[in-house]
Amino acid sequence: MYKILFLSIILLFNSCGKKPGIISSKEYGKFYTEGIKEKKWVAITFDDGPKPEVLDKILNALKKENIKATFFVVGMNMKLYPKYAKKYLVNGHEIGNHTYSHRNYYLLEKNKNDYEIENILLQELEDGATVINEITGIRPVFMRMPNGYISPIVKKVAKERKHIIINWTFGCDWHDNKTKDELIKKYLKTIEPGMILIFHEKKITADVLPVIIKGIKAKGFEIVPLRQILGFQKAEYRG
Ligand SMILES: [Zn+2]
Repeated sequence: MYKILFLSIILLFNSCGKKPGIISSKEYGKFYTEGIKEKKWVAITFDDGPKPEVLDKILNALKKENIKATFFVVGMNMKLYPKYAKKYLVNGHEIGNHTYSHRNYYLLEKNKNDYEIENILLQELEDGATVINEITGIRPVFMRMPNGYISPIVKKVAKERKHIIINWTFGCDWHDNKTKDELIKKYLKTIEPGMILIFHEKKITADVLPVIIKGIKAKGFEIVPLRQILGFQKAEYRG
């Protein structure tokens, strides 16, 4: 009797426990907007690149502070600027799939049916992942939808394409009416454990990034890659 009880406890424990650092296929199709909150850490992400006019400045700012970030890239831009695309991995950053051509799914929803949207997205994610793979040799696990669009179809397609969907906890650098000081204040005011911050590869962001990074560190926070804040050590590689 005790033996059976003991065995069931072991089995129960094993089925609940997540092997640290290994990504389980059960994660595919899941949707995250924040990471583990138990530590004073945040992850920073950049969308829409590679953008040659600002990427070097962003990469230098990250290198100076020894920070690894995650870049959600647009397949079309990767294809246009393969030399720049390689710089992400050379600098130790993660790459996520931001679809091939960044179509607006809020607009598509208005004149396409579910079946059509599903097929467009399947293709867009596959093309995005393929171009990333051709240039960098990896197949990304993380993906982010254009405009943060989310729906049951997105989750279904993400699962099929073996992606984990990542949105964000906070970000506002796409609001063009903000001054640099306002932008810095907005970001630094919101910092909390487990946050995923979103930025874009744009000039104002590249300008304020060093100050924001210093500010986050001054608050006693560590800046870690997405895979770390979510508890997966090898998430950008697919086995
Ligand atoms: Zn985008």
